[in-house]
Amino acid sequence: MSAEKTIPATLIPGDGIGPEIMDAVTEILDAVGAPFAWDKQLAGMAAVDATGNPLPPQTIDSIRRTGLALKSPLTTPVGGGFKSINVTLRQEFGLYANLRPTRTFVPGARFDKIDLVLVRENLEGYYAAMESYIPVGDDPHGIATGAGYNSRAECNRIVRFAFEYAVKHGRKKVTLVHKANILKLLTGLFLEEGRKVAKEYEGRVECNERIVDACAMQLVIDPWQYDVIVTTNLFGDILSDLTAGLVGGLGMAPGANIGEKAAVFEAVHGSAPDIAGKNLANPLALLLAANMMLEHIGRDDLSARIESGIRAVIKKPELLTRDLGGKSGTREFTAALKQHLV
Ligand code: NAD
Repeated sequence: MSAEKTIPATLIPGDGIGPEIMDAVTEILDAVGAPFAWDKQLAGMAAVDATGNPLPPQTIDSIRRTGLALKSPLTTPVGGGFKSINVTLRQEFGLYANLRPTRTFVPGARFDKIDLVLVRENLEGYYAAMESYIPVGDDPHGIATGAGYNSRAECNRIVRFAFEYAVKHGRKKVTLVHKANILKLLTGLFLEEGRKVAKEYEGRVECNERIVDACAMQLVIDPWQYDVIVTTNLFGDILSDLTAGLVGGLGMAPGANIGEKAAVFEAVHGSAPDIAGKNLANPLALLLAANMMLEHIGRDDLSARIESGIRAVIKKPELLTRDLGGKSGTREFTAALKQHLV
Protein backbone atom coordinates (compact mmCIF):
# COMPACT_ATOMS: atom_id res chain seq x y z
CA MET A 1 0.00 0.00 0.00
CA SER A 2 1.42 3.42 -0.77
CA ALA A 3 0.68 6.16 1.72
CA GLU A 4 1.85 9.69 2.24
CA LYS A 5 5.00 9.81 4.33
CA THR A 6 4.37 13.06 6.14
CA ILE A 7 5.93 12.50 9.56
CA PRO A 8 9.75 12.75 9.60
CA ALA A 9 11.27 10.18 11.94
CA THR A 10 14.79 8.96 12.61
CA LEU A 11 15.46 5.28 11.99
CA ILE A 12 18.46 3.59 13.62
CA PRO A 13 18.98 0.05 12.26
CA GLY A 14 21.45 -0.74 15.05
CA ASP A 15 23.74 -3.74 15.48
CA GLY A 16 23.54 -7.53 15.54
CA ILE A 17 19.95 -8.56 14.79
CA GLY A 18 19.02 -4.85 14.62
CA PRO A 19 18.95 -4.45 10.82
CA GLU A 20 16.99 -7.72 10.34
CA ILE A 21 14.26 -6.86 12.81
CA MET A 22 14.15 -3.26 11.55
CA ASP A 23 13.57 -4.50 7.98
CA ALA A 24 10.73 -6.69 9.25
CA VAL A 25 9.17 -3.82 11.18
CA THR A 26 9.35 -1.27 8.35
CA GLU A 27 7.80 -3.86 6.03
CA ILE A 28 4.82 -4.22 8.39
CA LEU A 29 4.58 -0.43 8.89
CA ASP A 30 4.54 0.04 5.12
CA ALA A 31 1.87 -2.64 4.77
CA VAL A 32 -0.52 -0.63 6.98
CA GLY A 33 0.44 2.69 5.39
CA ALA A 34 2.30 4.22 8.36
CA PRO A 35 3.14 7.87 7.63
CA PHE A 36 6.80 7.91 8.70
CA ALA A 37 9.35 9.51 6.36
CA TRP A 38 12.47 7.79 7.63
CA ASP A 39 15.81 9.50 8.07
CA LYS A 40 18.21 6.57 8.44
CA GLN A 41 21.09 7.20 10.85
CA LEU A 42 23.84 5.21 12.50
CA ALA A 43 24.53 4.48 16.16
CA GLY A 44 26.34 1.76 18.10
CA MET A 45 29.06 -0.43 16.60
CA ALA A 46 27.82 0.31 13.07
CA ALA A 47 28.58 3.98 13.78
CA VAL A 48 31.94 3.20 15.41
CA ASP A 49 32.94 1.25 12.29
CA ALA A 50 31.83 4.03 9.95
CA THR A 51 32.81 7.14 11.90
CA GLY A 52 34.72 6.12 15.05
CA ASN A 53 31.90 7.55 17.20
CA PRO A 54 29.06 5.37 18.60
CA LEU A 55 26.67 8.32 18.56
CA PRO A 56 27.67 10.62 15.67
CA PRO A 57 26.50 14.27 15.66
CA GLN A 58 24.43 13.59 12.49
CA THR A 59 22.33 11.09 14.44
CA ILE A 60 21.77 13.53 17.28
CA ASP A 61 20.93 16.32 14.80
CA SER A 62 18.44 14.04 13.06
CA ILE A 63 16.59 13.25 16.31
CA ARG A 64 16.65 16.93 17.23
CA ARG A 65 15.02 17.69 13.86
CA THR A 66 12.41 14.90 13.84
CA GLY A 67 11.75 14.60 17.60
CA LEU A 68 10.94 10.95 16.93
CA ALA A 69 13.15 7.89 16.62
CA LEU A 70 12.75 4.15 16.20
CA LYS A 71 15.93 2.47 17.42
CA SER A 72 17.06 -1.12 17.04
CA PRO A 73 19.31 -2.54 19.76
CA LEU A 74 22.89 -1.34 19.82
CA THR A 75 25.93 -3.33 20.81
CA THR A 76 27.69 -1.49 23.60
CA PRO A 77 31.34 -1.03 22.63
CA VAL A 78 33.51 -2.62 25.30
CA GLY A 79 36.42 -0.50 26.55
CA GLY A 80 37.60 2.64 24.72
CA GLY A 81 35.93 4.87 27.34
CA PHE A 82 32.64 5.08 25.40
CA LYS A 83 29.73 6.39 27.43
CA SER A 84 26.47 4.38 27.23
CA ILE A 85 24.60 5.51 24.13
CA ASN A 86 21.23 5.03 25.76
CA VAL A 87 22.22 7.16 28.75
CA THR A 88 23.65 9.84 26.42
CA LEU A 89 20.41 9.95 24.42
CA ARG A 90 18.34 10.25 27.59
CA GLN A 91 20.44 13.11 28.85
CA GLU A 92 20.82 14.89 25.50
CA PHE A 93 17.05 14.96 24.89
CA GLY A 94 15.82 14.98 28.50
CA LEU A 95 13.93 11.71 27.93
CA TYR A 96 12.57 11.68 31.46
CA ALA A 97 9.89 9.01 31.17
CA ASN A 98 10.56 5.38 30.37
CA LEU A 99 7.31 3.69 29.46
CA ARG A 100 7.15 -0.10 29.54
CA PRO A 101 3.78 -1.72 28.80
CA THR A 102 3.46 -5.40 29.67
CA ARG A 103 0.73 -7.45 28.06
CA THR A 104 0.13 -11.12 27.50
CA PHE A 105 0.26 -11.97 23.81
CA VAL A 106 1.27 -15.60 23.79
CA PRO A 107 -1.60 -17.71 25.17
CA GLY A 108 -0.62 -20.10 27.91
CA ALA A 109 2.21 -17.85 29.12
CA ARG A 110 2.78 -18.40 32.81
CA PHE A 111 0.63 -15.39 33.65
CA ASP A 112 -2.35 -14.95 31.39
CA LYS A 113 -4.28 -11.72 30.73
CA ILE A 114 -1.64 -9.35 32.06
CA ASP A 115 -2.11 -5.73 31.04
CA LEU A 116 -0.09 -3.25 33.03
CA VAL A 117 2.19 -0.31 32.36
CA LEU A 118 5.30 0.66 34.23
CA VAL A 119 6.50 4.26 34.17
CA ARG A 120 10.11 4.68 35.25
CA GLU A 121 11.84 7.96 35.99
CA ASN A 122 14.72 7.94 33.55
CA LEU A 123 17.17 10.71 34.51
CA GLU A 124 17.78 10.82 38.26
CA GLY A 125 17.99 8.52 41.30
CA TYR A 126 20.98 6.24 41.67
CA TYR A 127 21.61 6.41 37.92
CA ALA A 128 23.30 9.74 38.52
CA ALA A 129 26.13 7.27 39.33
CA MET A 130 27.92 9.48 41.82
CA GLU A 131 30.21 6.74 43.03
CA SER A 132 33.53 6.67 44.75
CA TYR A 133 36.03 4.25 46.18
CA ILE A 134 39.16 5.13 48.01
CA PRO A 135 41.32 2.07 47.68
CA VAL A 136 44.56 1.40 49.35
CA GLY A 137 45.76 -1.65 47.47
CA ASP A 138 43.33 -4.43 48.34
CA ASP A 139 42.67 -2.96 51.76
CA PRO A 140 39.94 -5.11 53.35
CA HIS A 141 38.57 -1.93 54.94
CA GLY A 142 38.11 -0.23 51.54
CA ILE A 143 34.69 1.31 51.13
CA ALA A 144 32.73 2.05 47.98
CA THR A 145 30.02 4.68 48.14
CA GLY A 146 27.24 5.62 45.79
CA ALA A 147 24.85 8.54 45.99
CA GLY A 148 21.77 9.48 44.03
CA TYR A 149 19.44 12.42 43.89
CA ASN A 150 15.79 13.03 43.12
CA SER A 151 14.51 16.52 42.46
CA ARG A 152 11.08 17.69 43.55
CA ALA A 153 10.36 18.94 40.02
CA GLU A 154 11.26 15.63 38.38
CA CYS A 155 9.30 13.55 40.90
CA ASN A 156 6.30 15.74 40.23
CA ARG A 157 6.76 15.53 36.46
CA ILE A 158 7.08 11.74 36.31
CA VAL A 159 4.05 11.09 38.51
CA ARG A 160 2.05 13.61 36.50
CA PHE A 161 3.13 11.80 33.32
CA ALA A 162 1.79 8.53 34.79
CA PHE A 163 -1.56 10.07 35.73
CA GLU A 164 -1.92 11.79 32.36
CA TYR A 165 -1.11 8.47 30.67
CA ALA A 166 -3.80 6.80 32.81
CA VAL A 167 -6.40 9.41 31.86
CA LYS A 168 -5.53 9.27 28.16
CA HIS A 169 -5.59 5.47 28.02
CA GLY A 170 -8.65 4.90 30.21
CA ARG A 171 -6.69 3.28 33.02
CA LYS A 172 -8.17 3.27 36.50
CA LYS A 173 -5.34 3.17 38.99
CA VAL A 174 -1.81 4.48 39.51
CA THR A 175 0.45 2.85 42.12
CA LEU A 176 3.29 4.92 43.58
CA VAL A 177 6.20 2.53 44.25
CA HIS A 178 8.84 3.75 46.69
CA LYS A 179 11.09 2.84 49.62
CA ALA A 180 10.31 5.84 51.77
CA ASN A 181 10.39 3.75 54.94
CA ILE A 182 14.19 3.47 54.58
CA LEU A 183 15.32 6.03 51.98
CA LYS A 184 13.22 8.61 53.74
CA LEU A 185 14.46 11.62 51.83
CA LEU A 186 15.50 10.21 48.44
CA THR A 187 12.29 8.31 47.78
CA GLY A 188 10.27 10.11 50.44
CA LEU A 189 10.37 13.15 48.16
CA PHE A 190 8.97 11.05 45.31
CA LEU A 191 6.14 9.84 47.55
CA GLU A 192 5.41 13.35 48.82
CA GLU A 193 5.16 14.78 45.30
CA GLY A 194 3.24 11.68 44.14
CA ARG A 195 0.58 12.22 46.79
CA LYS A 196 0.27 15.89 45.81
CA VAL A 197 -0.23 15.02 42.14
CA ALA A 198 -2.65 12.18 43.00
CA LYS A 199 -4.94 14.69 44.79
CA GLU A 200 -5.40 16.57 41.53
CA TYR A 201 -6.74 13.42 39.88
CA GLU A 202 -9.04 12.37 42.74
CA GLY A 203 -12.33 11.02 41.42
CA ARG A 204 -10.77 10.30 38.02
CA VAL A 205 -7.85 7.99 38.71
CA GLU A 206 -7.45 5.95 41.88
CA CYS A 207 -4.03 6.06 43.57
CA ASN A 208 -2.37 3.67 45.99
CA GLU A 209 1.15 3.15 47.32
CA ARG A 210 3.48 0.18 47.63
CA ILE A 211 6.93 -0.30 49.08
CA VAL A 212 9.13 -1.65 46.29
CA ASP A 213 9.95 -5.01 47.88
CA ALA A 214 6.30 -5.74 48.61
CA CYS A 215 5.48 -4.67 45.05
CA ALA A 216 8.01 -7.15 43.63
CA MET A 217 6.43 -9.99 45.60
CA GLN A 218 2.89 -9.01 44.66
CA LEU A 219 3.82 -8.71 41.00
CA VAL A 220 4.70 -12.40 41.11
CA ILE A 221 1.78 -13.53 43.28
CA ASP A 222 -1.03 -11.34 41.92
CA PRO A 223 0.07 -9.06 39.06
CA TRP A 224 -3.52 -8.42 37.99
CA GLN A 225 -4.01 -5.94 40.86
CA TYR A 226 -1.71 -3.47 39.06
CA ASP A 227 -2.71 -1.06 36.31
CA VAL A 228 -0.14 1.77 36.02
CA ILE A 229 2.96 1.68 38.24
CA VAL A 230 5.16 4.76 38.59
CA THR A 231 8.52 4.67 40.32
CA THR A 232 12.03 6.02 40.53
CA ASN A 233 14.88 5.04 38.21
CA LEU A 234 16.56 2.01 39.81
CA PHE A 235 13.34 0.43 41.09
CA GLY A 236 11.78 0.93 37.65
CA ASP A 237 14.73 -0.68 35.91
CA ILE A 238 14.43 -3.82 38.01
CA LEU A 239 10.63 -4.05 38.15
CA SER A 240 10.25 -3.54 34.39
CA ASP A 241 12.38 -6.60 33.66
CA LEU A 242 10.35 -8.50 36.23
CA THR A 243 7.10 -7.53 34.49
CA ALA A 244 8.56 -8.52 31.09
CA GLY A 245 9.32 -11.92 32.61
CA LEU A 246 5.66 -12.33 33.55
CA VAL A 247 4.64 -12.41 29.90
CA GLY A 248 7.40 -14.48 28.39
CA GLY A 249 10.57 -12.43 28.60
CA LEU A 250 12.23 -9.62 26.68
CA GLY A 251 11.27 -10.96 23.22
CA MET A 252 7.89 -9.27 23.52
CA ALA A 253 8.89 -6.20 25.53
CA PRO A 254 8.79 -2.75 23.92
CA GLY A 255 9.83 0.49 25.56
CA ALA A 256 9.58 4.20 24.94
CA ASN A 257 11.77 6.99 26.27
CA ILE A 258 9.79 10.19 26.24
CA GLY A 259 10.84 13.78 26.79
CA GLU A 260 9.37 17.22 26.13
CA LYS A 261 11.03 17.54 22.73
CA ALA A 262 11.80 14.00 21.57
CA ALA A 263 10.69 10.41 21.99
CA VAL A 264 12.77 7.31 21.26
CA PHE A 265 11.08 3.93 20.80
CA GLU A 266 12.93 0.63 21.10
CA ALA A 267 12.84 -3.06 21.88
CA VAL A 268 14.00 -3.80 25.38
CA HIS A 269 16.23 -6.72 24.38
CA GLY A 270 19.80 -6.35 23.13
CA SER A 271 21.47 -6.93 19.77
CA ALA A 272 21.64 -10.75 20.22
CA PRO A 273 25.00 -11.24 18.46
CA ASP A 274 24.64 -15.03 18.91
CA ILE A 275 21.83 -15.19 16.34
CA ALA A 276 22.66 -12.14 14.18
CA GLY A 277 22.38 -12.65 10.42
CA LYS A 278 20.78 -16.09 10.81
CA ASN A 279 17.15 -15.18 10.09
CA LEU A 280 16.26 -16.32 13.63
CA ALA A 281 15.37 -13.05 15.37
CA ASN A 282 11.88 -12.29 16.63
CA PRO A 283 10.90 -8.78 15.46
CA LEU A 284 7.84 -8.47 17.75
CA ALA A 285 9.38 -6.35 20.53
CA LEU A 286 10.54 -3.74 18.01
CA LEU A 287 7.19 -3.93 16.22
CA LEU A 288 5.35 -3.30 19.49
CA ALA A 289 7.69 -0.33 20.04
CA ALA A 290 6.75 0.94 16.56
CA ASN A 291 3.12 0.55 17.61
CA MET A 292 3.76 2.78 20.63
CA MET A 293 5.29 5.29 18.21
CA LEU A 294 2.14 5.19 16.07
CA GLU A 295 0.05 5.85 19.18
CA HIS A 296 2.40 8.68 20.15
CA ILE A 297 1.55 10.46 16.88
CA GLY A 298 -2.16 9.72 17.30
CA ARG A 299 -2.41 6.88 14.79
CA ASP A 300 -4.04 4.38 17.14
CA ASP A 301 -6.02 3.14 14.12
CA LEU A 302 -2.83 1.77 12.54
CA SER A 303 -1.42 0.32 15.76
CA ALA A 304 -4.76 -1.44 16.35
CA ARG A 305 -4.49 -3.06 12.92
CA ILE A 306 -0.97 -4.28 13.62
CA GLU A 307 -1.97 -5.52 17.06
CA SER A 308 -4.89 -7.54 15.73
CA GLY A 309 -2.55 -9.01 13.09
CA ILE A 310 -0.13 -10.04 15.84
CA ARG A 311 -2.93 -11.56 17.93
CA ALA A 312 -4.17 -13.52 14.90
CA VAL A 313 -0.78 -14.89 13.89
CA ILE A 314 0.11 -15.79 17.47
CA LYS A 315 -2.81 -18.23 17.53
CA LYS A 316 -0.86 -20.36 15.05
CA PRO A 317 2.23 -21.33 17.04
CA GLU A 318 3.98 -22.99 14.10
CA LEU A 319 4.18 -19.59 12.35
CA LEU A 320 6.10 -17.99 15.23
CA THR A 321 9.86 -17.60 15.51
CA ARG A 322 11.80 -20.23 17.42
CA ASP A 323 12.19 -18.26 20.64
CA LEU A 324 8.39 -18.41 20.89
CA GLY A 325 8.30 -22.13 20.15
CA GLY A 326 7.57 -21.85 16.41
CA LYS A 327 9.47 -22.86 13.30
CA SER A 328 9.61 -19.65 11.27
CA GLY A 329 12.60 -17.49 10.49
CA THR A 330 12.36 -13.70 10.77
CA ARG A 331 11.41 -13.32 7.10
CA GLU A 332 8.83 -16.13 7.08
CA PHE A 333 7.24 -14.81 10.28
CA THR A 334 7.05 -11.29 8.81
CA ALA A 335 5.40 -12.61 5.64
CA ALA A 336 2.88 -14.59 7.74
CA LEU A 337 2.11 -11.55 9.87
CA LYS A 338 1.55 -9.45 6.75
CA GLN A 339 -1.02 -11.96 5.58
CA HIS A 340 -2.85 -11.68 8.90
CA LEU A 341 -3.20 -7.89 8.73
CA VAL A 342 -6.72 -6.76 7.96
P1 NAD B 1 20.42 -9.82 24.33
O1 NAD B 1 19.05 -9.33 24.72
O2 NAD B 1 21.00 -9.29 23.10
O3 NAD B 1 20.39 -11.43 24.21
C1 NAD B 1 20.02 -12.30 25.29
C2 NAD B 1 19.46 -13.62 24.70
O4 NAD B 1 18.17 -13.39 24.14
C3 NAD B 1 20.32 -14.18 23.57
O5 NAD B 1 20.33 -15.59 23.64
C4 NAD B 1 19.61 -13.73 22.31
O6 NAD B 1 19.79 -14.60 21.19
C5 NAD B 1 18.16 -13.73 22.75
N1 NAD B 1 17.37 -12.68 22.05
C6 NAD B 1 17.41 -11.34 22.26
N2 NAD B 1 16.58 -10.71 21.44
C7 NAD B 1 16.01 -11.66 20.67
C8 NAD B 1 15.06 -11.61 19.61
N3 NAD B 1 14.52 -10.46 19.17
N4 NAD B 1 14.70 -12.78 19.02
C9 NAD B 1 15.21 -13.95 19.44
N5 NAD B 1 16.11 -14.06 20.44
C10 NAD B 1 16.49 -12.92 21.06
O7 NAD B 1 21.37 -9.53 25.59
P2 NAD B 1 22.96 -9.59 25.69
O8 NAD B 1 23.46 -10.79 24.95
O9 NAD B 1 23.23 -9.44 27.12
O10 NAD B 1 23.48 -8.28 24.97
C11 NAD B 1 24.03 -8.25 23.65
C12 NAD B 1 24.41 -6.80 23.32
O11 NAD B 1 23.25 -5.97 23.31
C13 NAD B 1 25.39 -6.18 24.32
O12 NAD B 1 26.34 -5.41 23.63
C14 NAD B 1 24.49 -5.28 25.16
O13 NAD B 1 25.20 -4.20 25.72
C15 NAD B 1 23.51 -4.82 24.12
N6 NAD B 1 22.20 -4.34 24.65
C16 NAD B 1 21.64 -3.28 24.02
C17 NAD B 1 20.40 -2.82 24.42
C18 NAD B 1 19.79 -1.63 23.70
O14 NAD B 1 20.38 -1.11 22.76
N7 NAD B 1 18.64 -1.15 24.11
C19 NAD B 1 19.70 -3.45 25.47
C20 NAD B 1 20.30 -4.57 26.08
C21 NAD B 1 21.56 -5.02 25.66
